Amino acid sequence: MINIPIFDASAEVVSIHEEVLESIKDVLFSGQFILGPNVNKLEQELAAYLGVKYAYGVNSGTDALVIGLRAAGIGSGDKVITTPFTFFATSEAIHQVGAEPIFVDIDPKTFNMDVNKLEEVITPDTKAILPVHLFGQACDMDPLLVLAQKHNLKIIEDVAQGFGGEYKGKKLGSIGDVGCFSFFPTKNLGAYGDGGLITTNDEETARLIRMLRAHGSEKKYHNEMFGYNSRLDELHASILRVKLPKVDDWNQKRRDIAARYHTEFAGINGISLPSEQDGTSHVFHQYTIRVLEGKRDSLKQYLADKGIGSMVYYPVPLHKLPVYQGSNWTFEFAEKAAEEVLSLPMWPLMPEKVQAEVVKAIQEYFV
Ligand SMILES: *Cc1c(COP(=O)(O)O)cnc(C)c1O
Repeated sequence: MINIPIFDASAEVVSIHEEVLESIKDVLFSGQFILGPNVNKLEQELAAYLGVKYAYGVNSGTDALVIGLRAAGIGSGDKVITTPFTFFATSEAIHQVGAEPIFVDIDPKTFNMDVNKLEEVITPDTKAILPVHLFGQACDMDPLLVLAQKHNLKIIEDVAQGFGGEYKGKKLGSIGDVGCFSFFPTKNLGAYGDGGLITTNDEETARLIRMLRAHGSEKKYHNEMFGYNSRLDELHASILRVKLPKVDDWNQKRRDIAARYHTEFAGINGISLPSEQDGTSHVFHQYTIRVLEGKRDSLKQYLADKGIGSMVYYPVPLHKLPVYQGSNWTFEFAEKAAEEVLSLPMWPLMPEKVQAEVVKAIQEYFV
């Protein structure tokens, strides 16, 4: 039986292991393990790549969101508008800083927050908008920037799935006030462990990020606020420095794989394919189809029986999670997406013949 996972890092590891082992060795013998020269250089390289003034490594994408929100001045009693169709960390971070999420439904075409539904939920307590560039596709940022200006709101981008993606020529994470990235191993730029990044162009926000990640102190042992222990370590920074120069090529490979899926699936009526919006560069963190007529779980099982992995991102929209029990939110399009979505095998070095097996199985299911 074939065994095709939804994501496979092994070919990537084989292709870069010599460089990675070399960089790990250098760190080992340097004796410096937390926030050292590799983190400094990585932060500079990432700031240059993303087109931002400041970039800071932290423990995880979740921490990036928590610290990013706090550095942007979001806290107790504030309301933050976001999407219910995302990973839980997005809204969890809002609660962790003492604020409250206000969900708005998604645009069924992009799975991203429907920017037309935003203005009606803005109240005097609304302090920020937290768009998620889901599956690697940019949220429509121009209307958000207009609203943010008009209502004096901060924009915190969740770029965990969108590293290297673009909106109208700008890198995701460089458009709002703060950008929050994850280096979780499966993300488009992934470490071999946890890690995250926060970006900003604002000097004061940058100062707060630096302080918050290090126990609220700019000067060691002179703590000015209650912060976190959330640093990127040298080993992961050195590995990320090996991977960063390759990420554009890997993202292009993801786009090529997506293009092949598109072509092969064009004639199948039972599914609908992800669409790339004008002016965006989709980096296909996931290739996510909709399976129509209630057949999603049956297709998923059919693939599993053939040894082909697939995943439902996400089976429960945030507002339906047990943690929000008692709330009476309903969001038609987010709930529909949760019933229909299926993410297919996707990784940059997926061989064409492996992809052909996935395509064949799906075509067979629908004949
Ligand atoms: C992965 C992810 C996060 C959290 O990142 P971690 O590094 O796992 O903490 C946040 N938001 C979204 C949309 C994600 O996909």
